[in-house]
Amino acid sequence: METTYAQMNATEPDLDSLGQAYDDLNRDFDGATSGAERLSVVQRWDQIRREFGTWEALVGARFAQDTTCENAQTAKGRHSEIRPTITSMDVEFQKRLLASKHRPDLQQSLGSHAFDIWANDVSTFDPCIEQDLVSESKLSTEYTQLIASAKINFRGETLNLAGLRKYTTDKDRSVRKEALAATYGFLEGVGGDVDRIFDELVGLRHDMALKMGCENFVELGYRRMSRLDYGRSDVATFRREVLRQVVPLVAQLRGLQAERLGIDKVMGWDAGLYAKDGNPKPHGDHDWMLKQAQLMFDDLDPRIGKFFAMMVRRELLDLKTREGKAGGGFCTYFADYGVPFVFANFNGTDGDVRVFTHEIGHAFQGFSSSDDRLLDCVWPSYDAAEIHSMSLEFLTYPQMDKFFAEEAGEFRWNHLAGALAFLPYGVAGDHFQHLIYEEPKASPARRHEMWRQMESKYMPDLDWGDIGYAAKGGRWQFQGHYFGAPFYYIDYTLAQTCAMQFWLACEEDQAAALERYVGLCKLGGNAPFQTLVAQAGLTSPFEEGCLDRVVQRAAQALFS
Ligand SMILES: [Zn+2]
Repeated sequence: METTYAQMNATEPDLDSLGQAYDDLNRDFDGATSGAERLSVVQRWDQIRREFGTWEALVGARFAQDTTCENAQTAKGRHSEIRPTITSMDVEFQKRLLASKHRPDLQQSLGSHAFDIWANDVSTFDPCIEQDLVSESKLSTEYTQLIASAKINFRGETLNLAGLRKYTTDKDRSVRKEALAATYGFLEGVGGDVDRIFDELVGLRHDMALKMGCENFVELGYRRMSRLDYGRSDVATFRREVLRQVVPLVAQLRGLQAERLGIDKVMGWDAGLYAKDGNPKPHGDHDWMLKQAQLMFDDLDPRIGKFFAMMVRRELLDLKTREGKAGGGFCTYFADYGVPFVFANFNGTDGDVRVFTHEIGHAFQGFSSSDDRLLDCVWPSYDAAEIHSMSLEFLTYPQMDKFFAEEAGEFRWNHLAGALAFLPYGVAGDHFQHLIYEEPKASPARRHEMWRQMESKYMPDLDWGDIGYAAKGGRWQFQGHYFGAPFYYIDYTLAQTCAMQFWLACEEDQAAALERYVGLCKLGGNAPFQTLVAQAGLTSPFEEGCLDRVVQRAAQALFS
């Protein structure tokens, strides 16, 4: 019988017996007398990691579903405490694999990419930073709770941030301004705490980097993001290209947007709205949308349709927003059950449709690579993982009438405009983090100033008017990635550049584009970023001219 989400469980790992299990692994690996024996020890290790990974993912999901639940908080705290110990045991075993004189044989069977991943993992951990990692994880949880605690009174309703967000694209200009002001009013109230949490995080990360022999956290941060086949200078070149090609185009787009909205200038509170009468909204509620999503995926590809039906049947989607629920959306994976889980906060806007296209893209990839490969090769690094999600947003363009009927064209226009406008914001977030970790002793005020500089460099038209906290450089405090996953942010822009290539391919031949997409999902984490990109027939975002092509086509579609 199929297990539903509610029936899934995983026992909290007991450190003593886990320690024993790892001791056994090390002993058996050292004592193995044949290649087959050595491989079976690696398989046992993989199984232990799958069990732990399942517990970890369940704890994370249940905490996000209700950040106020005491049991969930306790489990999350427990996870923060033991995670680094598990990492240290993994690293010890990985070191054995890397140093083994049988490595060539093992590499033949397990693939050389797994060894590259392990070498990278080993370079990010040392027992001397174990306690720092515990503290880092707890601080990141504290940030999540603080932001999820928002209860904002707005026009007679008490809302969390996701609930408030829909009013920031209201067709009534005064409503959206008031909603944005309320959003930043909340942030200003907790801003001091956020600064304190971030300051501690930056300090911890810098110390860890020094202990690991790095000059600052930038290098360690890149390794933690498993960037195996590109580096800082590639990323800097990409940012420059966005500055050169996309920033002027977005300025033009804002001009057009102002015309469409019938206003003089697009202010901070207008940025998310593209039409005078409001952005198209999905034509139904949560339950209706589930049905439409099923129709969309069946229509798109029977493999994706079948997968989505399974997700619904096994209740692997939590989409409605609630008080106490963590913000944002994500997809996680229960390795023992071989299934993903999707988390979101529906608020009745077109953003809800992105959950079905973006998060289901992640989920479908995880499910497609759920076979007998090593757990480390199920998911790729995040840069590549975001290609699966962001590409599905584009590949489903022809199906958007299922949610928006006659407004589907308008939705596509808005989505494309949003995709383009996102690139400068995304690279700004990346550049910002470089500044942060290159100057780890900067004061909170200086950090806000750094963000303000990034806004004037990459989003020169952005005008916050009299929303003082945003105008002074407070916006970055809403971006959870900077707290929980440093240097993640650039991944979205790299993946967007790839996803837009799928859009181009889809215009030429949808069936062929989809075949390549499904193929990429099956590859999962079998290779590093640029290899996966090449295997999917895409051009690397770091290759000269790559951005030109997608940006030109987008400009054509938007301005014609
Ligand atoms: Zn994603």
